[in-house]
Parts: sequence; structure tokens; C-alpha cells
Amino acid sequence: MKTIKSFFMLLLLVALTGGAYYYFHDTAAPELSLTPSAGAIQKNSVLQLSLSDEGSGLAAVEVKILQNGHQFVVLEKSYPLDTPSATEQLPLNNLLLEDGPLTVQISVRDRAIYHFGKGNVQESALNLTRDSRPPIISILSTAHNLNQGGAGLIAYSVSEPVTKSGIQIGDYFFPGYQQSNGNYLCLFAFPYNVDSSKVPRLIAVDQAQNQGMGGFYYHLNRRNFRSDRIGISERFLNSKMPQFQHLFPEAKTPLEIFLKVNRELRPRNRARLVDIGLNTTEQFAWSKSFLRQPNAANRAMFGDHRTYEYKGKKIDNQTHLGIDLASTARAPVPATNTGEVVFAEFMGIYGQCIIIDHGLGLQTLYAHLSRMDVQIGDLIERGQSIGTTGATGLAGGDHLHFGVIISGIPVNPVEWWDKNWVKNNITSKLELAD
Ligand SMILES: [Zn+2]
Repeated sequence: MKTIKSFFMLLLLVALTGGAYYYFHDTAAPELSLTPSAGAIQKNSVLQLSLSDEGSGLAAVEVKILQNGHQFVVLEKSYPLDTPSATEQLPLNNLLLEDGPLTVQISVRDRAIYHFGKGNVQESALNLTRDSRPPIISILSTAHNLNQGGAGLIAYSVSEPVTKSGIQIGDYFFPGYQQSNGNYLCLFAFPYNVDSSKVPRLIAVDQAQNQGMGGFYYHLNRRNFRSDRIGISERFLNSKMPQFQHLFPEAKTPLEIFLKVNRELRPRNRARLVDIGLNTTEQFAWSKSFLRQPNAANRAMFGDHRTYEYKGKKIDNQTHLGIDLASTARAPVPATNTGEVVFAEFMGIYGQCIIIDHGLGLQTLYAHLSRMDVQIGDLIERGQSIGTTGATGLAGGDHLHFGVIISGIPVNPVEWWDKNWVKNNITSKLELAD
């Protein structure tokens, strides 16, 4: 009898211990996360809800949206046994929501027997704002005269805060920058290589990702760029290619290195200009005219279509995207205008190269230098000597390659040396944003 009693006592103890273990086994509430969890959403946004419960698994979830006293049940769902995690898509387009604030109320329960069998519950209320309307763009500037390969400036305002605005031409995007009075200025290029039939569009994207689009009046002057033949000599290859050998160790001859420099390094260097172009100030840093290097002859112009020949055979084609200025060897190089140095080091085809930022994405580039006298972050005065000319990088002889770049895209520098062009197309439009 005593043995039987002891046996039942033991059994009871085991049951209690096991029960306690099971009861306290999962005391943690499920985890939940909603994307987006704050900010603005569109009419057709789909919210994403991620749920997980490591302990006993998910049991059920309920999602409601509350707005202006109305309540919409978006999701009510039970999960089968052993569901450690789940992801739910919550489309909003079928709900009778209005633009403005709303609250997403989420309640998720796990399978634990804790809380006398009700399980652990996680609740969350998140505030979002519905915005179904794209920003409206108003153009403030007029008379946009553009040259193919040249620049333009447009002033505009937008009807609501935006995360991105600017001009799109083909695959190219030129960001606009907000001014102290709330209006925007966008300095842009009609890139030399974009077909003249492409129409530039002003776009603005709000926090809910609604995109507004605006057209504007402009006149485009088509340009015919020059053609040029450049003979590549053995002497040039033997003196210039060793500096690039380490970048292309697989290239066996100086000619192979030259072709890789032209076809692979050149586009890489140009892509780098786009990154550097984003490092700009939101206002112009200059007010006076743009200087040209004194006593220097133009050796090659912007847009020159170059055919490279080796031993009488065509080996490659490229477009020259700056102006080559030659005077005496190791001539001083003046900064064309006031600005801040944003780049000063060796960059592939450009050799030792300085880039000065003048604001709104406008930058000037000075390449093939034999010496650089400035560093990143230096504030430069108009006319200040920043280094000396040379033949570093892909240069046959001592000269300055001068480039004007807008948000990473090279434009024709000749426009910027022309005071009337600058007045009519750039500075006269600045006032419109005031
Ligand atoms: Zn050049």
C-alpha cells in the first residue's frame, strides 16, 4: 500500500514539474515588425508585416486600420501548429481610406499556455500618413535656351516636401537643390551624347514616393562636333603605358594597355565623376566671371570625336570632353572661379587631377598636372594658382585639360567663359528663385 502511495506521489511530482516546465516554457511575446513603420504611404502601398515566435509558435494575428473614427479589419488569421514565423502582405487599395493620418493596430498571439492558456500577446499601434497626390511643380524661370552638350538652369517650386526633384533627360538625372526661400534651382546639362529628340522632364517625388512630372518650354540648338584623327606612336605607348600596367597586369603589350585604358579605365573614371558631382554645396559659391588660363592656345575642343590610329589602322574612337590648353611646360594653373576643392589626387586617364566645386553640382576639372598645390577641403579664390600643367595620365605632351562638369556630366566649357551666356542663361535665372 505504502509503495503504491509513494508511486502516485512521485507521479504527481513528475506531472507538476513537467507542467510547470511546460507552463513557463514560453513566456516571451511574439515579435512583430511593420514596413514601413512610420512616415508617408501611397494609395496603393502594400504594408509588410513580419511575425515570429521562437517558443511555442504563432497562434493568431489581427490587424486593424483606424482613421477618422472608422475601423477597417485588414487581416484576421490563425496559424497551424508549429508556425515559428510568418510574413503577411497588407494591401491598402481596397479600403475606403482618405489622405491624412491613420493608425495601424496589430495584435499577435502565440501558442503558449501562459496567462492561463491565453498565450503571450504582442500589441502595437503605428502611425502613418496616407498621401495619394503627387507633388505639383510650378516652373518659375522662362526662356531656356540649350545647346547640345551645354548647360541650363531652371527655377521651380513644389507643392509639398519632396525627397528628390530635378531634371531627367534620357538616362541622366540632374538633382535640384532647395534654396533658403523654399524654391528650387536645378543646374542641368543637355548631354553631348543624348539624341536631340529626347525631351527633358522635371520630376519631383514626395515622401510617399508619388512622382509628379512637369514639362517646360525650351529651345535646343543642335551641335555638330568636330572630328579629329590622333596617331598613336610607339614612342607614346612606350613612355605613357607603363604607369597603367599595374591596373591591367594581364595586358601583354603597350598597345593592349592603351586599348584597356581607353575602353575600361576611361568609363570608370567618368563614373567616378558622377559620385564626386553629388559632393556639392546647395548655393553657387561664385559671383564673378569664369577665367580662362591666360596665354594658352586651344589644342582640342569639347565634343571632338577622336579616331585613334596605330600604324595607319583605326584602333579606337572616343569623345574628348574638355578643352586642352597649351602654353609653356609646367605653367601655373589658375582656378577658374571661387569654390572648394573636392578632389585632388591621381585619377586614371586624368593623371594628377584637381576638381573644384562651385555649387549646385557645377564643378571644374584640371587634369594632367605635374604638381598639385591644394588639398580636399581648401577654399579657393578665383584666379588662385592651384598647381602646374604637366603630362600625367593619358596626355601626349604638357598641357592643361580643363573640364566643366554638371552633376558628373561634362559640358562645353566655352559657354562658361562667355559672360553674356552666363548672364542670360544662369545668373538672370537665379533671381527667379528668390
Ligand atoms: Zn584633353
